Amino acid sequence: MRVYNFSAGPSMLPLPVLEKVQAQFLSYDGTGMSVTEMSHRSKPYEAINAEAESLLRELMNIPAGYDVIFVQGGASTQFEAVPLNLVKNKKADYVVTGIFAEKAFKEAGKFTDAAIAASSKEQGFTEIPALKKDMFRADADYAHICYNNTIVGTRYRGAPDTGALPLVADMSSMILSEEVDVSKFGVIYAGAQKNVAPAGVTIVIVKKGLADDPSPACPTMMRWATQIKEHSLFNTPPAFSTYMAMEVFRWLKGMGGVKAIQKINEEKAGMLYDFIDNSAFYTNKVKKESRSIMNVPFVSPSEELDAKFVAEASKEGLLTLKGHRLVGGMRASIYNAMPVEGIKKLIGFMKKFEKENK
Ligand code: PMP
Repeated sequence: MRVYNFSAGPSMLPLPVLEKVQAQFLSYDGTGMSVTEMSHRSKPYEAINAEAESLLRELMNIPAGYDVIFVQGGASTQFEAVPLNLVKNKKADYVVTGIFAEKAFKEAGKFTDAAIAASSKEQGFTEIPALKKDMFRADADYAHICYNNTIVGTRYRGAPDTGALPLVADMSSMILSEEVDVSKFGVIYAGAQKNVAPAGVTIVIVKKGLADDPSPACPTMMRWATQIKEHSLFNTPPAFSTYMAMEVFRWLKGMGGVKAIQKINEEKAGMLYDFIDNSAFYTNKVKKESRSIMNVPFVSPSEELDAKFVAEASKEGLLTLKGHRLVGGMRASIYNAMPVEGIKKLIGFMKKFEKENK
């Protein structure tokens, strides 16, 4: 039996994609072999690599003046790759809106003069701070944001104005869930394991020119220019994860693309937030304008009830609802592949639990 898995990542993948991949597991597209066994220099894999890129370009409307690469190491490796590829004046400005944004800031501090332009730490990360371009140093090499904060459940709405500074965004937990104007960004990166594919592949989208002059200390494998030149095939790529990304991109295109999935995502999140806001039992502490449509944290009246909620929900096929250990409570991660029925079932359970425990 399949369950509704509310994990923050790795997360649910679309069922039709899993079924297709299962059917093709032993022999991909008539090749007589699995993608897991295939040379990355073979024609079938080169076709997968190329289609994954072209579909991502189409889905995100990525302008021609941007390179797209598929790399390894997860988003965490990009916390280091970003300063190593971009720093020239030896200054970088960070907006700290959560645990991963802070990790990115700390990594950058190993390679450059990293400063915090704004932070919502004092507010317990329950909001995205209002940003103005004069908060950033004019001679910084870039400004870094985390677009959707997975643990605390906040998100930006559009790209903030960072003046002339290239804007770098960690989009790990929202890529392809809502429309984004890529032309406003210098660099976008995202790990796959939420909206895209199993863990393994990391997407990096870089405006042409920005990757041309990395720090001499930047290791070959972290140089975006290395992978750009080789179309992500410099060394053995995370082939199976990229193949599944291609299948997820095909699925998303078939669903009507990012605009269509955004509408569904807003409906799903809207249902859940409306229910929480109208309940005297459950609370979401995030400022309304900053609420994520991918990660919805909430608490019941006590920690004991939170633990009971998570345990009983799992018996009903509603899995991985425990909040991150740093914030406690519950968190429902409702990425693209979470069906509306999963949200309805969760709300039904929340009602029942409230009635039995208030
Ligand atoms: N950034 C964000 C916003 C994340 O949610 C995560 C992982 N949950 C990471 C970075 C780290 O990603 P990875 O595990 O792929 O390094």
